[in-house]
Amino acid sequence: MALPKVELHVHLEGTIARPENTDANFMSLGDFLGVYDKGMEKLQTARDFHDVTLAYLRRAADDEVRHVEMFFDPEPHMERGIAAGAMVDGIEEAIDTASRELSTPAGAHITANMIFSWQRNRGVRSAEACLQAMAPYVGRVVGVGTSSDYVASWPEQYAPLYHKAESLGFRKCCHAGELTDGSDGDWSGMERALKLIDPERIDHGYRCVADPSGRLLEAVVEKQVHLTVCPLSNARLRCINSLAEHPLRRLIDSGCNISLNSDDPGYVSDAERHLTQVFALCSDQFELSLDELANISKSAARAAFISEDRLVEIEQAIDKWTVQVQQQTEP
Ligand SMILES: [Zn+2]
Repeated sequence: MALPKVELHVHLEGTIARPENTDANFMSLGDFLGVYDKGMEKLQTARDFHDVTLAYLRRAADDEVRHVEMFFDPEPHMERGIAAGAMVDGIEEAIDTASRELSTPAGAHITANMIFSWQRNRGVRSAEACLQAMAPYVGRVVGVGTSSDYVASWPEQYAPLYHKAESLGFRKCCHAGELTDGSDGDWSGMERALKLIDPERIDHGYRCVADPSGRLLEAVVEKQVHLTVCPLSNARLRCINSLAEHPLRRLIDSGCNISLNSDDPGYVSDAERHLTQVFALCSDQFELSLDELANISKSAARAAFISEDRLVEIEQAIDKWTVQVQQQTEP
Protein backbone atom coordinates (compact mmCIF):
# COMPACT_ATOMS: atom_id res chain seq x y z
CA MET A 1 0.00 0.00 0.00
CA ALA A 2 1.19 3.52 -0.78
CA LEU A 3 1.25 6.17 1.93
CA PRO A 4 -2.30 7.52 2.48
CA LYS A 5 -2.08 11.23 1.69
CA VAL A 6 -4.03 14.46 2.12
CA GLU A 7 -3.66 17.31 -0.32
CA LEU A 8 -4.37 20.81 0.98
CA HIS A 9 -2.87 22.95 -1.75
CA VAL A 10 -4.00 22.28 -5.29
CA HIS A 11 -5.71 24.68 -7.69
CA LEU A 12 -8.55 23.30 -9.78
CA GLU A 13 -7.42 25.44 -12.71
CA GLY A 14 -3.88 24.15 -12.18
CA THR A 15 -4.95 20.55 -12.69
CA ILE A 16 -5.74 21.22 -16.37
CA ALA A 17 -2.99 19.74 -18.54
CA ARG A 18 -0.51 22.32 -19.84
CA PRO A 19 -0.35 22.97 -23.62
CA GLU A 20 1.49 20.22 -25.49
CA ASN A 21 4.26 22.50 -26.72
CA THR A 22 5.33 23.46 -23.17
CA ASP A 23 7.24 21.53 -20.52
CA ALA A 24 6.98 21.61 -16.74
CA ASN A 25 9.66 24.29 -16.31
CA PHE A 26 8.72 27.97 -16.24
CA MET A 27 10.86 31.10 -16.11
CA SER A 28 9.01 32.65 -13.16
CA LEU A 29 5.67 32.83 -11.35
CA GLY A 30 4.61 35.55 -13.83
CA ASP A 31 5.56 33.37 -16.81
CA PHE A 32 3.54 30.50 -15.34
CA LEU A 33 0.48 32.68 -14.59
CA GLY A 34 0.29 33.79 -18.22
CA VAL A 35 -0.11 30.18 -19.38
CA TYR A 36 -2.34 29.27 -16.42
CA ASP A 37 -4.78 32.16 -16.95
CA LYS A 38 -5.14 31.17 -20.60
CA GLY A 39 -5.64 27.49 -19.76
CA MET A 40 -8.53 28.18 -17.39
CA GLU A 41 -10.61 29.62 -20.25
CA LYS A 42 -11.51 26.01 -20.98
CA LEU A 43 -13.87 26.21 -18.00
CA GLN A 44 -17.16 27.61 -19.29
CA THR A 45 -20.05 25.65 -17.82
CA ALA A 46 -20.99 23.81 -14.63
CA ARG A 47 -20.27 20.60 -16.58
CA ASP A 48 -16.71 21.77 -17.33
CA PHE A 49 -16.08 22.45 -13.63
CA HIS A 50 -17.52 19.03 -12.85
CA ASP A 51 -15.39 17.23 -15.42
CA VAL A 52 -12.09 18.89 -14.46
CA THR A 53 -12.75 18.29 -10.74
CA LEU A 54 -13.70 14.65 -11.24
CA ALA A 55 -10.70 14.02 -13.50
CA TYR A 56 -8.37 15.31 -10.79
CA LEU A 57 -10.08 13.43 -7.97
CA ARG A 58 -9.80 10.26 -10.04
CA ARG A 59 -6.03 10.77 -10.36
CA ALA A 60 -5.78 11.65 -6.68
CA ALA A 61 -7.66 8.49 -5.67
CA ASP A 62 -5.31 6.42 -7.85
CA ASP A 63 -2.46 8.09 -5.95
CA GLU A 64 -3.83 6.95 -2.55
CA VAL A 65 -4.94 10.48 -1.66
CA ARG A 66 -7.72 10.23 0.92
CA HIS A 67 -8.76 13.87 1.09
CA VAL A 68 -8.29 16.92 -1.16
CA GLU A 69 -8.96 20.61 -0.49
CA MET A 70 -9.15 22.31 -3.83
CA PHE A 71 -8.84 26.02 -4.58
CA PHE A 72 -10.70 27.66 -7.42
CA ASP A 73 -10.48 31.28 -8.65
CA PRO A 74 -14.03 32.68 -9.17
CA GLU A 75 -13.00 36.15 -10.38
CA PRO A 76 -11.73 35.36 -13.90
CA HIS A 77 -14.66 32.98 -14.41
CA MET A 78 -17.16 35.58 -13.21
CA GLU A 79 -15.59 38.04 -15.60
CA ARG A 80 -16.37 35.62 -18.42
CA GLY A 81 -20.02 35.54 -17.33
CA ILE A 82 -20.02 32.27 -15.39
CA ALA A 83 -22.28 32.36 -12.32
CA ALA A 84 -20.80 31.50 -8.92
CA GLY A 85 -23.54 28.91 -8.44
CA ALA A 86 -22.57 27.10 -11.65
CA MET A 87 -18.98 26.73 -10.42
CA VAL A 88 -20.05 25.49 -6.98
CA ASP A 89 -22.68 23.11 -8.41
CA GLY A 90 -20.23 21.62 -10.91
CA ILE A 91 -17.42 21.11 -8.40
CA GLU A 92 -19.77 19.81 -5.70
CA GLU A 93 -21.40 17.27 -7.98
CA ALA A 94 -17.96 15.91 -8.89
CA ILE A 95 -16.96 15.70 -5.21
CA ASP A 96 -20.19 13.81 -4.42
CA THR A 97 -19.65 11.41 -7.31
CA ALA A 98 -16.01 10.87 -6.33
CA SER A 99 -16.85 10.11 -2.70
CA ARG A 100 -19.54 7.63 -3.76
CA GLU A 101 -17.85 5.90 -6.67
CA LEU A 102 -14.06 6.22 -6.51
CA SER A 103 -11.77 4.00 -4.55
CA THR A 104 -8.04 4.17 -3.88
CA PRO A 105 -5.75 1.17 -4.62
CA ALA A 106 -6.07 0.24 -0.92
CA GLY A 107 -9.87 0.23 -1.26
CA ALA A 108 -10.52 3.47 0.63
CA HIS A 109 -12.83 6.29 -0.42
CA ILE A 110 -11.86 9.89 -1.17
CA THR A 111 -13.39 13.09 0.19
CA ALA A 112 -12.85 16.69 -0.88
CA ASN A 113 -13.63 20.28 0.02
CA MET A 114 -13.55 23.42 -2.08
CA ILE A 115 -11.99 26.77 -1.17
CA PHE A 116 -12.44 29.88 -3.28
CA SER A 117 -9.46 32.15 -3.75
CA TRP A 118 -9.06 35.78 -4.56
CA GLN A 119 -6.70 36.62 -7.38
CA ARG A 120 -4.75 39.23 -5.50
CA ASN A 121 -3.62 41.15 -8.59
CA ARG A 122 -7.27 41.97 -9.42
CA GLY A 123 -7.62 44.21 -6.38
CA VAL A 124 -9.95 44.45 -3.42
CA ARG A 125 -13.00 45.76 -5.28
CA SER A 126 -13.05 42.66 -7.42
CA ALA A 127 -12.41 40.55 -4.30
CA GLU A 128 -15.33 42.21 -2.50
CA ALA A 129 -17.69 41.41 -5.39
CA CYS A 130 -16.35 37.86 -5.39
CA LEU A 131 -17.00 37.50 -1.65
CA GLN A 132 -20.56 38.71 -2.13
CA ALA A 133 -21.08 36.17 -4.91
CA MET A 134 -19.63 33.33 -2.82
CA ALA A 135 -21.37 34.23 0.48
CA PRO A 136 -24.56 32.21 -0.26
CA TYR A 137 -22.41 29.09 -0.66
CA VAL A 138 -20.61 29.19 2.69
CA GLY A 139 -20.46 25.68 4.08
CA ARG A 140 -20.55 24.12 0.64
CA VAL A 141 -17.40 26.22 0.07
CA VAL A 142 -15.39 25.82 3.27
CA GLY A 143 -12.85 28.59 3.04
CA VAL A 144 -11.17 31.46 1.28
CA GLY A 145 -7.62 31.79 0.00
CA THR A 146 -5.53 34.37 -1.81
CA SER A 147 -3.57 33.26 -4.85
CA SER A 148 -2.08 34.43 -8.16
CA ASP A 149 0.52 37.21 -8.22
CA TYR A 150 1.64 39.29 -5.24
CA VAL A 151 1.06 43.03 -4.98
CA ALA A 152 2.56 45.54 -2.59
CA SER A 153 0.77 45.84 0.78
CA TRP A 154 -1.57 42.96 0.01
CA PRO A 155 -1.88 41.91 3.69
CA GLU A 156 -3.05 45.43 4.65
CA GLN A 157 -5.41 45.57 1.67
CA TYR A 158 -7.00 42.15 2.14
CA ALA A 159 -7.15 41.88 5.95
CA PRO A 160 -10.58 43.62 6.27
CA LEU A 161 -12.04 41.34 3.60
CA TYR A 162 -10.64 38.29 5.35
CA HIS A 163 -12.29 39.37 8.60
CA LYS A 164 -15.57 39.79 6.78
CA ALA A 165 -15.21 36.35 5.16
CA GLU A 166 -14.43 34.83 8.55
CA SER A 167 -17.53 36.40 10.09
CA LEU A 168 -19.56 34.79 7.28
CA GLY A 169 -18.11 31.38 8.20
CA PHE A 170 -15.24 30.90 5.72
CA ARG A 171 -11.98 29.41 7.02
CA LYS A 172 -8.90 31.48 6.20
CA CYS A 173 -5.92 30.46 4.06
CA CYS A 174 -3.53 32.64 2.10
CA HIS A 175 -0.62 32.25 -0.26
CA ALA A 176 2.43 33.99 1.20
CA GLY A 177 6.19 33.59 1.57
CA GLU A 178 6.53 32.09 -1.91
CA LEU A 179 8.99 34.40 -3.68
CA THR A 180 12.66 35.10 -3.10
CA ASP A 181 12.66 38.61 -4.51
CA GLY A 182 12.28 40.79 -1.41
CA SER A 183 8.76 41.90 -2.47
CA ASP A 184 5.59 41.34 -0.44
CA GLY A 185 5.55 37.86 -2.01
CA ASP A 186 8.58 37.14 0.15
CA TRP A 187 8.89 36.74 3.95
CA SER A 188 7.97 40.35 4.82
CA GLY A 189 4.48 40.02 3.30
CA MET A 190 4.09 36.72 5.09
CA GLU A 191 5.03 38.27 8.41
CA ARG A 192 2.33 40.93 8.06
CA ALA A 193 -0.22 38.40 6.77
CA LEU A 194 0.32 36.32 9.90
CA LYS A 195 -0.31 39.36 12.06
CA LEU A 196 -3.12 41.08 10.13
CA ILE A 197 -4.98 38.17 8.53
CA ASP A 198 -4.16 35.43 11.07
CA PRO A 199 -4.83 32.56 8.64
CA GLU A 200 -5.20 28.95 9.75
CA ARG A 201 -2.96 27.86 6.90
CA ILE A 202 -0.32 29.63 4.87
CA ASP A 203 0.11 28.27 1.36
CA HIS A 204 3.84 27.96 0.61
CA GLY A 205 5.25 29.99 3.52
CA TYR A 206 8.69 28.41 3.23
CA ARG A 207 10.33 31.85 2.98
CA CYS A 208 9.73 32.37 6.71
CA VAL A 209 13.32 31.14 7.03
CA ALA A 210 14.55 34.27 5.20
CA ASP A 211 13.73 36.70 8.01
CA PRO A 212 17.25 37.60 9.20
CA SER A 213 16.07 38.11 12.78
CA GLY A 214 14.70 34.54 12.88
CA ARG A 215 11.50 35.86 14.50
CA LEU A 216 9.14 34.86 11.68
CA LEU A 217 10.22 31.22 11.78
CA GLU A 218 9.83 31.31 15.57
CA ALA A 219 6.32 32.75 15.23
CA VAL A 220 5.31 30.08 12.70
CA VAL A 221 6.52 27.35 15.07
CA GLU A 222 4.97 28.95 18.13
CA LYS A 223 1.56 29.52 16.52
CA GLN A 224 1.76 26.16 14.75
CA VAL A 225 0.26 27.80 11.69
CA HIS A 226 0.21 25.11 9.03
CA LEU A 227 2.39 25.62 5.92
CA THR A 228 1.21 23.84 2.77
CA VAL A 229 4.58 23.68 1.05
CA CYS A 230 5.02 22.78 -2.62
CA PRO A 231 8.76 22.29 -3.25
CA LEU A 232 8.40 20.90 -6.77
CA SER A 233 6.20 23.83 -7.83
CA ASN A 234 8.69 26.30 -6.30
CA ALA A 235 11.54 24.73 -8.29
CA ARG A 236 9.56 24.48 -11.54
CA LEU A 237 8.43 28.13 -11.30
CA ARG A 238 12.03 29.15 -10.54
CA CYS A 239 11.14 30.65 -7.16
CA ILE A 240 14.16 28.57 -6.16
CA ASN A 241 16.87 27.36 -8.53
CA SER A 242 16.52 23.72 -7.61
CA LEU A 243 14.79 21.46 -5.13
CA ALA A 244 18.00 21.36 -3.06
CA GLU A 245 17.52 25.07 -2.28
CA HIS A 246 14.18 24.44 -0.58
CA PRO A 247 14.44 24.76 3.22
CA LEU A 248 12.19 21.74 3.82
CA ARG A 249 14.71 20.04 6.10
CA ARG A 250 15.10 23.21 8.17
CA LEU A 251 11.32 23.69 8.45
CA ILE A 252 10.87 20.12 9.69
CA ASP A 253 13.81 20.27 12.09
CA SER A 254 12.57 23.61 13.47
CA GLY A 255 9.23 22.03 14.38
CA CYS A 256 7.06 23.67 11.70
CA ASN A 257 3.70 22.16 10.97
CA ILE A 258 3.93 21.34 7.24
CA SER A 259 2.38 19.29 4.46
CA LEU A 260 3.63 18.44 0.97
CA ASN A 261 1.45 19.48 -1.94
CA SER A 262 1.42 19.64 -5.72
CA ASP A 263 0.00 23.20 -6.26
CA ASP A 264 -0.60 23.11 -10.03
CA PRO A 265 0.03 19.49 -11.00
CA GLY A 266 -1.21 19.82 -14.59
CA TYR A 267 1.57 22.31 -15.21
CA VAL A 268 4.46 21.48 -12.88
CA SER A 269 4.27 17.71 -12.63
CA ASP A 270 5.41 15.21 -15.22
CA ALA A 271 4.26 12.08 -13.42
CA GLU A 272 0.97 10.25 -13.45
CA ARG A 273 0.88 10.23 -9.63
CA HIS A 274 1.51 13.87 -8.81
CA LEU A 275 1.69 13.82 -5.06
CA THR A 276 3.71 10.62 -4.99
CA GLN A 277 6.22 12.39 -7.24
CA VAL A 278 6.46 15.29 -4.77
CA PHE A 279 6.88 12.93 -1.81
CA ALA A 280 9.45 10.79 -3.63
CA LEU A 281 11.58 13.73 -4.82
CA CYS A 282 11.51 15.35 -1.37
CA SER A 283 12.18 12.06 0.37
CA ASP A 284 15.33 11.56 -1.75
CA GLN A 285 16.51 15.15 -1.55
CA PHE A 286 15.95 15.69 2.17
CA GLU A 287 16.37 12.11 3.39
CA LEU A 288 12.95 11.95 5.00
CA SER A 289 12.52 9.06 7.41
CA LEU A 290 9.48 6.81 7.55
CA ASP A 291 8.21 8.66 10.62
CA GLU A 292 8.73 12.02 8.95
CA LEU A 293 6.75 10.94 5.88
CA ALA A 294 3.94 9.65 8.09
CA ASN A 295 4.02 12.86 10.17
CA ILE A 296 3.76 15.05 7.08
CA SER A 297 0.67 13.14 6.02
CA LYS A 298 -0.84 13.28 9.51
CA SER A 299 -0.07 16.95 9.83
CA ALA A 300 -1.96 17.57 6.56
CA ALA A 301 -4.94 15.59 7.86
CA ARG A 302 -4.99 17.59 11.10
CA ALA A 303 -4.91 20.88 9.20
CA ALA A 304 -7.72 19.82 6.85
CA PHE A 305 -11.20 21.23 7.32
CA ILE A 306 -12.71 17.82 8.09
CA SER A 307 -14.66 16.20 10.90
CA GLU A 308 -12.97 14.53 13.86
CA ASP A 309 -14.27 11.14 12.68
CA ARG A 310 -12.77 11.58 9.24
CA LEU A 311 -9.48 12.70 10.78
CA VAL A 312 -9.30 9.60 12.97
CA GLU A 313 -10.04 7.40 9.93
CA ILE A 314 -7.17 8.93 7.94
CA GLU A 315 -4.73 8.88 10.88
CA GLN A 316 -5.46 5.20 11.44
CA ALA A 317 -4.79 4.48 7.76
CA ILE A 318 -1.43 6.26 8.02
CA ASP A 319 -0.53 4.25 11.15
CA LYS A 320 -1.47 1.05 9.34
CA TRP A 321 0.82 2.02 6.46
CA THR A 322 3.71 2.74 8.86
CA VAL A 323 3.38 -0.69 10.49
CA GLN A 324 3.21 -2.40 7.08
CA VAL A 325 6.35 -0.67 5.80
CA GLN A 326 8.21 -1.38 9.05
CA GLN A 327 7.31 -5.05 8.79
CA GLN A 328 8.47 -5.20 5.15
CA THR A 329 11.84 -3.60 5.94
CA GLU A 330 12.56 -5.73 9.01
CA PRO A 331 15.13 -8.42 8.24
ZN1 LIG B 1 -0.82 27.71 -4.98
